[in-house]
Amino acid sequence: MSKSPLPSRAKIVIIGGGVGGTSVAFHLAELGEKDVILLDRNELTSGSTFHSAGLVGQLRADPTLTKMNMHSVDLYRRLQKTDTPPSWRECGSIKLATTPERMEEIRRQIGWARTFNLDLKEISPKEAQELFPLMDLEGVIGASYLASDGQVDPSQLAMAMAAGARAGGVQIFTHTRVLSIQTEKGRVKSVTTDKGVIECEVIVNCGGMYAPSIARMVDVRVPIVPMSHQYLITDNFMDPNAPLLPSLRDPDSLIYFRQEVQGLLMGGYERNSKAWSADYQNFDDIPANFNNQLLGEDWDRFEEIAVNSQRRVPKMSEIGVKSFINGPEGFTPDNEFCLGESEVGGFFVAAGFCAHGIAGAGGIGKVVAEWVVAGEPTMDLWHMDIKRFGASYRSPDFTLKRISENYEAYYDIHYPGEERQSARPGKKSPAYDWHAANTAVFGEKSSWERVNYYANHESDDALKPYGWAGKHWSSAVAAEHRATRENAGLFDESSFAKAVVSGAQAPDFLNWVCANDVVKGVGRTVYTQALNTRGGIESDYTVTQTGETEFFIITGTAFSTHDFGWLEKQKREGGFTDVTIKVVTEEFACFALMGPKARTILSKATDYDLSHTNFPFMHSREINIDGTKVRATRLTYVGELGWEIYAPVADGKKVWEALIAAGAGEGLIPCGYRAIESLRLEKGYRAWAGEINTETNPYEAGLGFAISKKKDKFIGKDALDTAKQSRKLVAMTFDDIRQVPLGNEPVRINGSVVGRVKSGGQGYTINKAIGYAYLPLEHTTPGTSVDVEFFGTWATGVICAEPLFDPDNSKIRL
Ligand SMILES: Cc1cc2nc3c(=O)[nH]c(=O)nc-3n(C[C@H](O)[C@H](O)[C@H](O)COP(=O)(O)OP(=O)(O)OC[C@H]3O[C@@H](n4cnc5c(N)ncnc54)[C@H](O)[C@@H]3O)c2cc1C
Repeated sequence: MSKSPLPSRAKIVIIGGGVGGTSVAFHLAELGEKDVILLDRNELTSGSTFHSAGLVGQLRADPTLTKMNMHSVDLYRRLQKTDTPPSWRECGSIKLATTPERMEEIRRQIGWARTFNLDLKEISPKEAQELFPLMDLEGVIGASYLASDGQVDPSQLAMAMAAGARAGGVQIFTHTRVLSIQTEKGRVKSVTTDKGVIECEVIVNCGGMYAPSIARMVDVRVPIVPMSHQYLITDNFMDPNAPLLPSLRDPDSLIYFRQEVQGLLMGGYERNSKAWSADYQNFDDIPANFNNQLLGEDWDRFEEIAVNSQRRVPKMSEIGVKSFINGPEGFTPDNEFCLGESEVGGFFVAAGFCAHGIAGAGGIGKVVAEWVVAGEPTMDLWHMDIKRFGASYRSPDFTLKRISENYEAYYDIHYPGEERQSARPGKKSPAYDWHAANTAVFGEKSSWERVNYYANHESDDALKPYGWAGKHWSSAVAAEHRATRENAGLFDESSFAKAVVSGAQAPDFLNWVCANDVVKGVGRTVYTQALNTRGGIESDYTVTQTGETEFFIITGTAFSTHDFGWLEKQKREGGFTDVTIKVVTEEFACFALMGPKARTILSKATDYDLSHTNFPFMHSREINIDGTKVRATRLTYVGELGWEIYAPVADGKKVWEALIAAGAGEGLIPCGYRAIESLRLEKGYRAWAGEINTETNPYEAGLGFAISKKKDKFIGKDALDTAKQSRKLVAMTFDDIRQVPLGNEPVRINGSVVGRVKSGGQGYTINKAIGYAYLPLEHTTPGTSVDVEFFGTWATGVICAEPLFDPDNSKIRL
């Protein structure tokens, strides 16, 4: 490690010398960043890294993560040829299925692995046993095999990446503890260590399970909890000349194996998880001297895993145990990494690797280094972005409950529409009790309780989708969809994230950050996207001008931290000192009244003139409902005539009940979020994190109509003006409404895979199943026949002109 004195200045300071920090350093050096320092309070690898099991699997539940892990494998192969090889062994890996559901999962994974050219293949139980002869096949009905998976020595891996970083100019200082971090005008300014102060522009917190305590130095919340994770290593018993066994995962038995010298390493995910030192106050504070240390053996908790392992590999009951490892590892509430720039400018986090940090390190280092250099993510990293965590994760109790639930279900099959059970009920709409009393079935988003559907609308299962899409399906959704199209539906959308942007510079600021012209006069509402500098869609929302210098912004429930945090960043970096962004989510309820009878119904609840001439589409007014002043905005996310009504929370329940009463005799029914999803898919309205994200540009997403032609400057305009469109989002339909794509399925045209499904659902008005996919331009002509792979079998659909419902918008502009 560096013998030179600690510099007093560096552009970038990385805190933490595990696989995370060394990989970020390595990739920053590869990008040509010379002025980088890495600090560790102890030795490199002395946190979680040194006691890792070292399995490297590439296939994850998310395409981006899979691509990142594929980069890891490429990198480890490359490092193996250097002077500091990390002991990369490409032994392959097997995953077993002992239930039909697991086999479906395997077939689904094989389908979408095909879209990355990842050579995952189905093998028979016998073939699996030939590859891993120690295995007993009891209960095994099938398996998959990925030849390019492998294993690596975690400490050597960190050392190899550190060597590469050093060769690229990074200076590494061990036994240098960060004690505090200083900020100025919302940005990092310096770090104070026990060896001196370093002024810097960027800090990357690669502190693993220590990351929350480092982040507290700048009052940033990193919801990571150290969880105990255990494995054992047996005595040697195998022929030293035999080829290396592939890794073996038997998720139905909660266990994994890999060969370790001539013995086996075996670990798993216990059903009774245990956080380390969880006292609900300071549970993520790690003792100052906890480096190169393990936790005490906890055989009681490991018993189920040990018993299962003996059933799968009978030899396990004969051979002795050489060592038993209980090591803490940082887990996040959804088992995804915690990456990216926090609300403090220049303070990045790359931590919370949830026991797949060795597999992920190469890819994590790459995307975080690119993010630091570009100032924005270079691919769609939403599922890993620190900004996906809402305010509820500030609570240690909430965070721990979520993490425990996830840890214990790590190996479970997660079906679409599955809901979290822990730490509920969370935040409630003022009409929550009404919903509960009226058979609402609630889901949860960003800790808000939201109505999925009302059980009393259920009928029969004639439309129930095949396979996974049918697992959490309800016939009530079709009834609510139809009621909205035929009469009217009332939706409680109180969880929408809401902010007021005001100040003398607010109009200029918003027209700089938004791609549409959002300053159209008081009372006008505009749908807009905010773009990144590459022209990708960073977020999308509606902006209502409520005063000369005041605007009301509405975005999705889960996007508050992300979208409003991004606005704060642009405000800071753009020098807009006279702009205030105030989050008001919990001050207003929101009820959406949608459907052909919406005007008739709302007219019964207000004396305001709701005629089309007096209250046109995309306009917003203050009106009275049952004595309460509310904001009514005429827009729609379901493709019908309708209003979103924003009422003060205190009067929310009263307003809800007044609207329900006004709908009596008009066919109005209360409806849930599942119906919104079906209605908006049919109408072709895009969802951020669904069909659109930071990697998609508005033109290819079919959203060019929302790009202002009149403005000559806004973020992302230059990139958009020069972008060459090579692909387009298309709608595909399937005549059998029960054949529902879930997302990520490969799409084939004339026998070649040309894309993967982004999203899918049922369209109850058009009576077809719907899927959306980005396809190369030459394949996007309506009428083109497409094949989509559903769990190993191909079904034929057709590309259709959009929108699938009401193409001339006649329903909306009544
Ligand atoms: C038992 C076990 C088995 C595992 N098996 C696998 C596996 O098979 N495959 C896989 O992919 N993953 C596995 N993992 C996960 C993997 O080991 C981790 O995800 C990874 O090592 C985390 O690396 P990191 O760099 O984020 O954190 P760490 O390795 O913990 O590094 C963080 C560093 O930050 C330093 N630090 C903290 N505070 C400060 C400060 N104030 N100033 C300076 N430095 C500081 C610490 O000293 C430490 O060195 C396993 C984990 C465990 C516990």
